[in-house]
Amino acid sequence: MNLVTDNSQGHLSIGGCDALDLANDFGTPLYVYDISLIRQQLRQFHKAFKETGIKYAISYASKAFAIRAIDQVIDQEDGHLDVVSAGELMTAVQANFPMANVSFHGNNKSLAELQLALDNHVGTIIVDNFYELELLNKLLPEQKQPVNIMLRIAPGISAHTHRYIQTGQVDSKFGFDVQSGQAEQALKQVLQNPKLNLRGYHAHIGSQIMAIAGFTALVQKMVQLAADWQEKYHYQPQVLNFGGGFGIKYTNQDQPLAPQEFVRNMIQTLKKEIAQTNLTLPEVWIEPGRSIVGEAGYSLYTIGARKNIPGIRTYVSVDGGMGDNIRPALYQAEYQAVLAADPQASPVETVTIAGRYCESGDILVKDQKLPLSAPGDILAILATGAYGYSMASNYNRVGRPAVVFAENGHAKLVVKRETLADLTRLDLNYL
Ligand code: PLP
Repeated sequence: MNLVTDNSQGHLSIGGCDALDLANDFGTPLYVYDISLIRQQLRQFHKAFKETGIKYAISYASKAFAIRAIDQVIDQEDGHLDVVSAGELMTAVQANFPMANVSFHGNNKSLAELQLALDNHVGTIIVDNFYELELLNKLLPEQKQPVNIMLRIAPGISAHTHRYIQTGQVDSKFGFDVQSGQAEQALKQVLQNPKLNLRGYHAHIGSQIMAIAGFTALVQKMVQLAADWQEKYHYQPQVLNFGGGFGIKYTNQDQPLAPQEFVRNMIQTLKKEIAQTNLTLPEVWIEPGRSIVGEAGYSLYTIGARKNIPGIRTYVSVDGGMGDNIRPALYQAEYQAVLAADPQASPVETVTIAGRYCESGDILVKDQKLPLSAPGDILAILATGAYGYSMASNYNRVGRPAVVFAENGHAKLVVKRETLADLTRLDLNYL
């Protein structure tokens, strides 16, 4: 995928809109999404699944970017949706998302959140632990129909990625552990409960995964477990959910597999493994987050102060930072910046892009070569569409940026910029 396109004036173009015009019209910092890229990603996943002939669902992990407008695009493109909180669920409700296509995740769902999910007829609750089963049991007597659930399993497979975004290993807060027998225990408990309709098993091994090996191991492990448990408990899963985590290109160094390659490989392995068991081919669900929205997102900033420490480093500060993109500070995520006025210009100096927040760690891009820039120039950081807005904070009492969707040359504001009034709205007097 081409991260940078320029228009006839040589300016950065996003969804057919000139980035300088967008910055001018909507202000900075600004999140801009190229919606046709999001559609393209989803369509590639669909195409790859359709070619395998398997039943499937592509469930967008909305934690990557959860706003009403994106939920609407996902539904339009026949995606399903994952939510992990009452807030993400209510966003889906407001988007008129079909609730049957929503899955509810989380390692510490509250009773109130589970109640909300049941009241809204969420399609599937992905149960993470025994406490959640206890909570569900309290709510089941009120339910006329059995509740659809899946069991999240910690398969004991760790993906090669940052340790904060690995989730499938044994030592993880997520899911029922297989090794110690907890997953099997949970299965027995669920199968004895007529008010629970177990759809199958779920596992997610991590994020920003570039190679297929982890997914191959996951598919093999899930099929082996499903086959063992079928022999013991005569339960055939209707669905295997292999989670998300498909890597994307943040910088030129990243070489992720295309979505269709991940899908083809996984389904090939699945068919091979299933053929050696008594299982019938299940539906396959996946939960991509960043691979749907990551590369489609751009953060536009206005350049301000410059500090040159001779022989050491040049800092170029922008009007946003860790409040709108915590990933570099949180897990050393790397990004690539361009000048919106001329994204193809030859670099002439090495600079570090610093945020405006009062933390030395508020660095967005470290030591990148850029063309000469001046205060007032618009800087774009690429591939910020996932876990940027959704992890944004009001640190230093700075408002969160607006969000604009750009498609076919049209730009639409889909989230307003927070104002000073918004920032103090919830404060009450003490004296
Ligand atoms: N599914 C689950 C259970 C997750 O925990 C996550 C991310 O943390 C995802 C899906 C989405 O991962 P990604 O955005 O890397 O595709």
